[in-house]
Amino acid sequence: MSDGNNDEMIPVDLDDPMGFNCGPGNPCFNECCRDLNQALTPYDILRMKNALAMPSSTFLREYTSLHYGPESGLPVITFKPNPATGHACPLVSEAGCTVYNDRPASCRLYPLARAIAMDRATGNIREFYAMIQEDHCKGHDPKHDLTVRKWLEGQDVAEHNRQNDKLMQLISLKNQIRPGKLEGAESDQFYMALYDLDTFRQEILENGLLEGLNIPDTLMKTLKTDDFALLDFGIAWVKYRLFGKDLKVDI
Ligand code: SF4
Ligand code: SF4
Repeated sequence: MSDGNNDEMIPVDLDDPMGFNCGPGNPCFNECCRDLNQALTPYDILRMKNALAMPSSTFLREYTSLHYGPESGLPVITFKPNPATGHACPLVSEAGCTVYNDRPASCRLYPLARAIAMDRATGNIREFYAMIQEDHCKGHDPKHDLTVRKWLEGQDVAEHNRQNDKLMQLISLKNQIRPGKLEGAESDQFYMALYDLDTFRQEILENGLLEGLNIPDTLMKTLKTDDFALLDFGIAWVKYRLFGKDLKVDI
């Protein structure tokens, strides 16, 4: 969502005024859905692949690109721009976002960006917001009487933030325990358990991935059908498999 020209990031507080109006009537409608530069989270992908009734592997192949962080070895998933539409998001149409109710957190937040800081001792999270001002976005208009907090409520982003913070906690754990680069098979396991959930499920149910771990039958039944529980389990499994933590599952 960056055009690289005259862009500004201005720190804001939740109760700061936010004059902003976005909708199909704006001359810039859909302009924020091209030249994308946003990482997609496991929860973003879960929501979108379910909205499109697609297996995760199909969604990832059709709509995303996979890179690995050069220093961390962690997978980074981004939208694959569609060359037929001037490199717009593959999920945008003339009428707007085709997965609007399930759009990613970064799309909900825009023109805000969110960062968090986590206290390693307590696990408490503090969040910070900044207003992004980009030339292409014509929605900034002081006549619209909002606050940052009201904008966030209107975007229904709280659950995305809650779920995405679990990824940030996992990355923080990785940085403490394994500050170096994950190697190929480890990166692949991280990717499968968090992003390619349907393949992860298949590995569990058909290829005995959890053999010997004494997983209760009730949990196995849940993992068969509940993608949200499967993602939570995937995070717990990565902590166990890659970072030596006990396999604690509270689902
Ligand atoms: S997911 Fe939807 S809102 Fe986000 S960039 Fe794509 S079309 Fe735009
Ligand atoms: S106002 Fe900004 S966020 Fe809304 S459609 Fe235009 S570019 Fe996108």
